[in-house]
Parts: sequence; structure tokens; C-alpha cells
Amino acid sequence: MLVVMRAHASEEQVRAVCEKIESLGYRAHPIPGESRTAIGITGNRGAVEPGSLEEMTGVQEVIYVTKPYKLVSRDVKEDDSVIRFPGTDASFGATDLGIIAGPCGIETREQAFTVAERVAKAGARFFRGGAYKPRTSPYAFQGLGLEALKIMAEIRERFGLRIVTEAIDNESLDLVEEYADVIQIGARNMQNFSLLKKAGRTRKPVLLKRGMSATLEEFLMAAEYIMSEGNYQVILCERGVRTFADHTRNTLDLSIVPAVQRLSHLPILVDPSHGTGKRNKVLPLSRAAVAVGADGLIVEVHHDPDHALSDGMQSIYPDQFDELVAEIRLIAAVVHRNVQKPLPQPKLAQAAG
Ligand code: PEP
Ligand code: MN
Repeated sequence: MLVVMRAHASEEQVRAVCEKIESLGYRAHPIPGESRTAIGITGNRGAVEPGSLEEMTGVQEVIYVTKPYKLVSRDVKEDDSVIRFPGTDASFGATDLGIIAGPCGIETREQAFTVAERVAKAGARFFRGGAYKPRTSPYAFQGLGLEALKIMAEIRERFGLRIVTEAIDNESLDLVEEYADVIQIGARNMQNFSLLKKAGRTRKPVLLKRGMSATLEEFLMAAEYIMSEGNYQVILCERGVRTFADHTRNTLDLSIVPAVQRLSHLPILVDPSHGTGKRNKVLPLSRAAVAVGADGLIVEVHHDPDHALSDGMQSIYPDQFDELVAEIRLIAAVVHRNVQKPLPQPKLAQAAG
């Protein structure tokens, strides 16, 4: 159920409707859009009696949402959601593409700083690096944990990059929320509903990766879990799905980008690194992702991938990342998007010295 307010409804009118919804025992989610605010109602088991809401001042209409998800839907918000980072020009979902780059895992301070300097110089606004690694084998590198989070906090200070890193459970989520700018929920946890709800109770943007066999609807429902707890800053990410194909690690499903954009106002990124598992496919599929209309990319970059502790095979060299940015800049213009110039880096000389 959705209450659509009139275009010029006042804040008080929106508040009064929210209070009414809450007094009926439901949860109200006011989502402001460009032309009007819509208020999603959750917590109801059946249909809400619309009568009293329809009569309230400022209300244009009360509509039933037949889809199993509400808050992620364009029904609640027609225009695209843009996620901004106060005090910076970094964003997801705006004309500027949101570009995240960095190693799969933080291995040492030196490794992290070497890669961060290069991706900052190339123009990325976000640095990625795993502190907690969900590995297929329990004997593989599991991440440096808190030490890695502290290294990334230093990287934010030094290079002005916003930090994106994965939380794998309740405990790591608390720490990631404290240290990072964006909480990543990985493919393996896309349907970890208690983790999704906990991420929904934080006030940091959440990057939600598609599960490796998730349908579009399951993917959107996972995002709905986060939003239903009151955190509306969700960024979706296609990272490849399992198929019979064995020429790549996963099959990057670029068709989900326009499919998501048709149904949802949330930004969607593409991860060509996990999506292919092969270094030589990362550039071609990054170009394709921008061409198909993705709102940004998340790319694994390593200065010495042969010795990387995780995902070396799919990590590109910093020089290749420079090339990637140059290429997608040209393609972005065709689809009316933009790739930002590198941030001025007064601190880079200092970093190198
Ligand atoms: C990652 O980004 O390093 C990662 C583990 O991704 P995914 O959850 O998509 O496998
Ligand atoms: Mn990885």
C-alpha cells in the first residue's frame, strides 16, 4: 500500500499521514521524489483500510501495490535515487558514474596504499578492499579484519577516497559501519535476512551484490529487506551468476541492468571482476556495462596480482585501470553519463615522498 501525496503537500501534511499510519500499527516510509512524496506502508499483513488516509489533507491517492516489493519500486519513487556523500562530489545514481576500485583483499598497508594512489590518480572516487573475506575454502586468506579497516580509514584521509568494504556477519557489520562509508553485502549473503535487516538499521549506504543464482525478484526483495528497516540508501550490484559456461568464472548478466532500472529507482553497478573471473575480460565488460546504462563499476585492481592473496586472476594492473577509465569516459558520453576527472591530490606528492 502506498499513499501518494500531492505535488505541493507540506511537510506537516506528510508528517500527519505518517503519524496516522503508525497509529494504525504499521510502519510509514516517506520517500521524497522530484515531484512528490510517496509514503510506503509496511508491517501490514493484509490490505490497509484506505478510507481515513484518503481523506487526509495533502493526500492525492492511496494505491495498492501488487508487487511483493514496495519501497524499491518505481511505484513509490518515479525518479532515480541518487546516493551522495556529504562534503564530497562522490555519488551513485547521478550523471557521474560511481567508480569503485581496489584490491580484492587488504593484504598489507603498503599494498593498499600503492593501489589506492593509482586508482585515485585515475579518477575513482571510491576505494574497495576486503577486510573480511568470505572464502570458499576455510584455509584461504580470510582478511586482516580490524587492521584492514584501519588501513582503509587512513586511505580515506590521504586520498579523499570513500571506503567500500564487505560485512560478512553481525560482528563485522558493526565494525564496517564504524570505519567504512559504504557497507558491502556480498553475493553469498544476499539472502542472509538477519544481516540484511541489521544493515537496514544502520545509517550508511549499503552495496548489495546479487546472489549467484538470484532472480531479479529475489534480488529486489533482498534490497526491500534493507529498506523496510528504514535505510533507503541501497546500491545494487550485478556480479555474475552461475551457469554452465566454463570460459568465465561466472556469467555477467548485463541484461539485469535495464531490467532493474525499469522496476526500481535504485542505482545499479556492475562488477566485471567477479562477473568474469578473468583479467582479460574485465575491460571489454566494463565498456559494455557502461554502454548498457550501469550507474557505475566496482573493479579489482592489484599492482602485483600474481602474488595477490585472493582473486589475482581477475585483478587488473593499475595501468589497465587507467586505460579502462579512459575508454569508459568516451562511452559514458554516448549514454549521457560522465566520468569524473581525478580529484586534485595535493597529498599525493607527500604520499610518494
Ligand atoms: C568481493 O567483492 O570481493 C566479493 C567477495 O564479491 P562477491 O560477493 O560478489 O563474490
Ligand atoms: Mn574478490
